[in-house]
Amino acid sequence: MPGQGVTPTPATSSGPLILFGGTFDPVHRAHISAARSVSKALQQAPVYLMPNAVPPHRPQPLADASQRLAMLKLAIAAYPQLHIDDRELRRDGPSYTIDTLLELRREHPARPLVLVLGADSLAALQHWHRWREYPPLCHLVVLPRPGAAEPDERVLGAFPKAEAGQLCTLPAGRRLMLPAPNLDVSSTAIRRALAEKGHCPALDADVLAHIHQHGLYTVAVNASPNDEDS
Ligand code: ATP
Repeated sequence: MPGQGVTPTPATSSGPLILFGGTFDPVHRAHISAARSVSKALQQAPVYLMPNAVPPHRPQPLADASQRLAMLKLAIAAYPQLHIDDRELRRDGPSYTIDTLLELRREHPARPLVLVLGADSLAALQHWHRWREYPPLCHLVVLPRPGAAEPDERVLGAFPKAEAGQLCTLPAGRRLMLPAPNLDVSSTAIRRALAEKGHCPALDADVLAHIHQHGLYTVAVNASPNDEDS
């Protein structure tokens, strides 16, 4: 069962179902701006922020799943078009996006499914588990991100560029590049700022209050096993 405050993706609607996966460690203003921009570009469709349990492509999160979920709930509270789907937190093992896409496609056989990525994630997509199986399953919407590398030609070729309207009618396989927002914000920089100064303007005020209340991010990085030997 989804946790309290988490909306299951409705099986009955026919408009696009927009998924925005991430570690959200912690969720920040660029995540929320991105989610709102994508909803606006695609007929105000609902956006589901999808926190991952064990991200396979990066270091493990500093805050645990329940804390990251609690911060997400606070960050989306003012935005009725934003929701949370916690299915990856309820699954054991690494959070592979392909498993989520296959599951959602079974639940919504003909509905447009849209995966939202920052340009940095697009540039690494060719390393994601079974990415070549994505095109029949979902569209991509890509947000600009300062400093992102160029995407791989194979990925661009697998997802031809399209207009927003096509992403709202076809079930999958197209790519929309949004020009904005282009915000130089990252959870990494925020964790560093919190550990050094205890605050950061790129966080929602309620999220920051939650971080203080629970003593999160007092160090910027997780201790690795080797750290214990030194
Ligand atoms: P970290 O610094 O810990 O890697 P992050 O800020 O990149 O975190 P994630 O939770 O890893 O945040 O990101 C989830 C998704 O949001 C990814 O697709 C990422 O590319 C995108 N994203 C995060 N920050 C931005 C940003 N400033 N602009 C555009 N996309 C972003």
